Amino acid sequence: MDNEHLKELFRKINVWKRGDQRAPHKPLLTLYALSRLSTGQKNSRIPYQEVDEALRPLLAQFGPTRKSYHPEQPFWWLQTDGIWELDIDPATLPRRKSGNNPTKSQLLRHNVHGGFPQNILQTLQGNRSLISEIAYEILEKHFPESMHDEILSIIGLDLSKTIVNRTVRDPAFRETVLRAYEYRCAVCGLDIRIGNQTLGLEAAHVKWHQAGGPSTVDNGIALCILHHKIFDYGAFTISQNDRQLIVSEKAHGTNGFNETLMQHHGKPVRTPVNPAYSIKDSYIRWHEREVFKKPARYFPDGDCQ
Ligand SMILES: [Zn+2]
Repeated sequence: MDNEHLKELFRKINVWKRGDQRAPHKPLLTLYALSRLSTGQKNSRIPYQEVDEALRPLLAQFGPTRKSYHPEQPFWWLQTDGIWELDIDPATLPRRKSGNNPTKSQLLRHNVHGGFPQNILQTLQGNRSLISEIAYEILEKHFPESMHDEILSIIGLDLSKTIVNRTVRDPAFRETVLRAYEYRCAVCGLDIRIGNQTLGLEAAHVKWHQAGGPSTVDNGIALCILHHKIFDYGAFTISQNDRQLIVSEKAHGTNGFNETLMQHHGKPVRTPVNPAYSIKDSYIRWHEREVFKKPARYFPDGDCQ
């Protein structure tokens, strides 16, 4: 199989869709399997137990908050994308309905292994730059840049030697958003400059562009690098009604936690210079639903949310 054909197959991975809900399952499993391959592991078939243990924390950290996490879903459904196969005849796995995947305990009981089919393996094995290019495309398509390094370091994939054509984002978006917030972080007010150059300040998408969020001022907010990152990770969100910063109950820390986050809990974030530039409600709702690590922290005054 030639490289372009292979890259096209990975581009076509069909991610489960319901509206604009995030589904990072297949991308994370694919990245995990690519990483395993890049380290030259001879055993290319991965036991379900290993996938379950590796994917569960990744889904919790990089996916939306859910009551439970289901690594068995991508392990099963990635087969339909033509880049994954299991070492068991599907008919031997009992399922409630043909539209269902087997349960975790069934996959464990049958000791099912999964992995890339032979023709894909042959093309990928020993071709680190191809593995890296595919991995980078998957990252770009499904996760904001602020998460890339952590995902790569947790799954153990090193892209540092890879020359990739980084997607150039719309520079007008950055400029419009920073101007709307007077070149200051909307949370902490940071506005460090050298001469006329703003440092450490970024235009964040409230609804990620990976989820179809547009690069328009009503989907943007100016945040310093730190607040941008922890906003993308869902350590805080912004309330829809009164634009207050809401800290996640799952976020904690000692040094700097109060200064960076807790002191802003329940306080309004900076508003743009013109109400017309305000973040649209639907984008805030998406962030609260798909990114914020629920539940919200307790409010001593009980006066918000
Ligand atoms: Zn800040």
